[in-house]
Amino acid sequence: MRDKGKVWLVGAGPGDAGLLTVKGERLLESAEVVLYDKLVGRGIVAKIPRNAEAIFVGKKAGNHAVPQEAINGILTERALAGKRVVRLKGGDPFLFGRGGEELEGLARTGIPFEVVPGVSSPLAVPAYSGIPLTHRDCASQVHIVAAHGKAGAPSIDWEALVRAGGTLVFLMGSSALDGIASSLLAAGMSAQTSAAVIERGTTARQRKALSTLKNVAQEAGRVGISPPALIVVGEVCAYAERFAWFEKQPLSGVRIAVTRPKERAGALSAALSEAGAEVVEIPVIALRSRAAAPELDAFFDQIEGFSRARAESTSSSQWLAFTSSAGVEFFFARMRARALDVRSLIGVRFAAIGRATAAALEVRGILVDAMPDHFSASELGRVLARVVGPGERVLLPRAGACGAELGEALDAAGIAWVDAPLYDAVAVDWGDAALRDLLVEDLDAIAFTSGSTVENFARLFGVEHMRGRHALCIGEATARAAAAYGMDALVAANATVEALVDAALSLREGG
Ligand code: SAH
Repeated sequence: MRDKGKVWLVGAGPGDAGLLTVKGERLLESAEVVLYDKLVGRGIVAKIPRNAEAIFVGKKAGNHAVPQEAINGILTERALAGKRVVRLKGGDPFLFGRGGEELEGLARTGIPFEVVPGVSSPLAVPAYSGIPLTHRDCASQVHIVAAHGKAGAPSIDWEALVRAGGTLVFLMGSSALDGIASSLLAAGMSAQTSAAVIERGTTARQRKALSTLKNVAQEAGRVGISPPALIVVGEVCAYAERFAWFEKQPLSGVRIAVTRPKERAGALSAALSEAGAEVVEIPVIALRSRAAAPELDAFFDQIEGFSRARAESTSSSQWLAFTSSAGVEFFFARMRARALDVRSLIGVRFAAIGRATAAALEVRGILVDAMPDHFSASELGRVLARVVGPGERVLLPRAGACGAELGEALDAAGIAWVDAPLYDAVAVDWGDAALRDLLVEDLDAIAFTSGSTVENFARLFGVEHMRGRHALCIGEATARAAAAYGMDALVAANATVEALVDAALSLREGG
């Protein structure tokens, strides 16, 4: 029998995926079972490993939340079955998170557990709203209060709160805002005290209402604040306008799905988040090396023969043209598997479709001989038509099922070329329906970097999640594929991460 499993209560932070702790992320990556609810940020839900069992325990539309005893039952049962179980909880597990209740059953059964603190919303949400919780000029205490607790719980001592002074943060109180304000006023707090209500802080849906205690409920109604939201009362709220930073980022308020393969999404996701977007990584394809790549093997046979014979290398008539950094990586992995290194490539010339691909060669010590200014397959074809000499041959180590543009351009120029497919894009399994629905509801845009990402997105998530939405596309062909599903396609001026981020900026200006 396997060892008993273990449960980790992991604080997922207030929403922004960047606020998940390093420890939390590491545990999530190795989890076999993950329980989550709606308070957990989308970007974090998307990080649940594809081979883990994902269990939604939040409120389903029109239904009640999964009862606490049922959640406890799942934790115990999966742990007893020997699983590594991660229970993701919004904010911090022990701050109004029922973390204590979830540990009861585990402690009773003797199941090992750990608690990983999270960035709690009363700390993070004011920070994203420009409200310092303390300030030497006006607040030297903070009180965090659950505005409505368990039935029968002791009620709030409003006089004590007002007497103590400092900053007050109320959780779970947005529907009781009126009552909170009038209780504080009745307990003697000045009607002119600054107050703020912030909804879905740290996410693309962050909204805030700033006012005085007297008028804050009205202002929240005007802005249309709805739960989850928290309320901050105290002079520190007066800084909110001056210290506002989150809303001022060029892409704040924009939630974008990135559909590239996981290991290639990093640079795009980082650039979009840095510009203020909320990024949800939903890789719809994964790249797999092919078991057999006969054209490439023939090439390796050839260069291996040359280096063994130490003969004058005819590889000087050979071009390798790469159309993706993945192609570069798979090429060198195969070469390594054949026990060949870069020395056997002496004399071979290199072309790359764009900067990222050229950079992948450069880190392997190779500077490209040719690269188009405008990154596209047909442009690469035109560049090769200029530089490839008579009698020279072009090998294309690339993905299977590539577009015809490059080959056609080479044919038109009378250049001999050999397709050498060495990897394929395969669909990722986003099996669980609850997870799928949560990830794609309420997106502002979906970034696509190839036609196959568009097709797979449609297959995995359904056309209804595409129609009428913005598509951020690299390349005209990708944009055409997205438009065919009724999407409003924005095309990057060229095939770079920077250009895609620039294209995204119009989402904000337009909206
Ligand atoms: N354990 C959580 C709190 C859970 S109670 C934590 O540490 O943050 C749920 C309440 O938290 C909500 O009703 C709301 O008041 C607050 N909350 C959580 N995330 C929030 C967010 N992103 N923006 C505003 N309020 C939030």
